[in-house]
Amino acid sequence: MDSVSKVYGKGPAAVHALREVSVSFARGTFTAVMGPSGSGKSTFLHCAAGLDRPTSGQVRLAGADISGLDENALTALRRERIGFVFQAFNLLPSLTVEQNITLPLRLSRRRTDRAWLTQILERTGLETRSRHRPSELSGGQQQRVALARALVTRPDVVFADEPTGALDSTTGREILLLLGESVKALQQTVIMVTHDPVAASHADRVLFLSDGRLAGSLQSPTTDEVAERMAHLGNR
Ligand code: ADP
Repeated sequence: MDSVSKVYGKGPAAVHALREVSVSFARGTFTAVMGPSGSGKSTFLHCAAGLDRPTSGQVRLAGADISGLDENALTALRRERIGFVFQAFNLLPSLTVEQNITLPLRLSRRRTDRAWLTQILERTGLETRSRHRPSELSGGQQQRVALARALVTRPDVVFADEPTGALDSTTGREILLLLGESVKALQQTVIMVTHDPVAASHADRVLFLSDGRLAGSLQSPTTDEVAERMAHLGNR
């Protein structure tokens, strides 16, 4: 993204949620985005993933500018080119695991590549769970379904929004390791918003936001380095 700004509201009440943020994400890399509450993390995710349009600046996905697309085009783009993993799993309770995973394909009228589906089920350890409903699974298993659903379309980018927020630390670690493996083994690009330094330490790089601005980055971060940077950014 190039010089992306997002302003909510107008005049004296205007909130500058993002200020001229420029950053790029290489294919097959895992980036964590951190910052104090209110620093612009959600706004960043929404603009980068085509869930919202920036006020100014450009967002490019695989070389194409998506910042000016209309709502229909953005919906199609999100369905076909972007995968999402949310804190709350967001699975459909009436569908089986396999139906949940393949839902993005059905929504964009694409055929399911069975070999790819099998690979993803194996990778996420869900082979024996494919006919179960989400309510029959643990939280960690449900998040693995969400990850499989995000990977099934072979998206350009997977966005993860606090993917471990609803999980205990052991289960959370399992999800982070799976995310990391999908980056390495599938060359999947992953961008994860988190407030947890442990989660961020699984990424190749951490970006820090402060007051809507990019406030530095860390390469191959350790938990302690991330925590120390966060302490200096302060909480508002
Ligand atoms: P974070 O995710 O880091 O907590 P956000 O991106 O949610 O930060 O918010 C950044 C700033 O933009 C905050 O000051 C927040 O109050 C403001 N903001 C976010 N969304 C809206 C909105 N829809 N309308 C007005 N202000 C908003």
